[in-house]
Amino acid sequence: MNPAVKNPSPFDLSGKVALVTGGNGGIGLGMARGLGRAGAAIAIVGRDEAKNAAALDELKKLGVKAIAIPADVANETSCRAMVQDAVDRLGGLHILVNNAGINIRKAPQDYTIDEWKRVLDTNLTSAFVAAQAAYPEMKRLRGGKIVNVGSMMSLFGASFVAPYGASKGGIVQLTKALATAWAADNIQVNAVLPGWIDTALTQRARKEVSGLHDRVLARTPAGRWGSPGDLEGIAVFLCGAASDFITGTAIPVDGGYSAQG
Ligand code: NDP
Repeated sequence: MNPAVKNPSPFDLSGKVALVTGGNGGIGLGMARGLGRAGAAIAIVGRDEAKNAAALDELKKLGVKAIAIPADVANETSCRAMVQDAVDRLGGLHILVNNAGINIRKAPQDYTIDEWKRVLDTNLTSAFVAAQAAYPEMKRLRGGKIVNVGSMMSLFGASFVAPYGASKGGIVQLTKALATAWAADNIQVNAVLPGWIDTALTQRARKEVSGLHDRVLARTPAGRWGSPGDLEGIAVFLCGAASDFITGTAIPVDGGYSAQG
C-alpha cells in the first residue's frame, strides 16, 4: 500500500473543493493553479466570460478539475448564488479564496460616492457576503479554509488609494473577526498581503502612477516584481492541513517590501 494514502501530505488537497473569486487572471489564477495542482477541484469566478474560458482552459491543461462561474461579486445576490452554484456543481465547498478586487486611483477629494462604493463593495463587502454564504456548507463539512486577499495597502498609506486602502485595511479586521467567530467550527480564516505583483491591475497602475515601476524595484529587497506564481505556495499552505492551527493572521508575500524600514 502506498504509505502516502494512509498518511497524506499536509499540503495535499485531494478531494477538496475551492472557489476562487477573480480566479480568471492575475493573482487569483496563480492561487487557483496552486490549489488545483495540489489536488483540489476549482471553481473560478469572474465577470468576463472570455477570460473565464481562457483560464478554465489553462487549468484543464494542467489536469485540474475546474468550472467557471460568471458572477459579479459586488452584487449581493450574484455573490451568494456563486457560492451555491459551486456547492451544487462540485459537491461541496471546503475552501473560499476572496481575491476579486479593483482599484480606482485618484486624490481623495475627487472620488464620487459611487466610486467609493464600487471599490468597497468589490473588495470588502464581497468577502463578507461570500464568507457568510459559505459558512453553512463549511460547518456541515466540519471545517473549512477562507483566504482573504489584502495588500501592502492593508499596512501602509498612499495618496491615491483612499477607498482601496480602506477596503484592504478592512480585509485584515474582517479576517480576524471571522477567524475568532468560526475557530470553534474548525474554519480557519487568514489574509494574504501581496506585495507588488505583475498583473493587469498593476500594469494599469504603472501607466497611471509615474515612476511606480522603478520605485517598487528600489524598495523591494528581493529586487524584482512578484509574479502570480509567487502566490501558489501560500494558497496551498493556507488551504491545507499544514495550517490547521493558524487563523486570523495576515501574511505578506512581498519579497521583503513590508520588512524594509
Ligand atoms: P487583476 O486585475 O489581474 O484581477 C482581478 C480579478 O478580479 C479578475 O479576475 C477580475 O475578473 C476579478 N474581478 C474584479 N471585479 C470583479 C467583480 N465585481 N466580480 C467578480 N470578479 C471581479 O488583479 P490582481 O490579480 O492584481 O488582483 C487580485 C487581488 O489581489 C485584488 O484583490 C488586488 O487588490 C490584490 N492585490 C494585487 C496586488 C498586485 O500587485 N497585483 C498587490 C496587492 C493586492 P473580471 O474582470 O472577469 O470580473
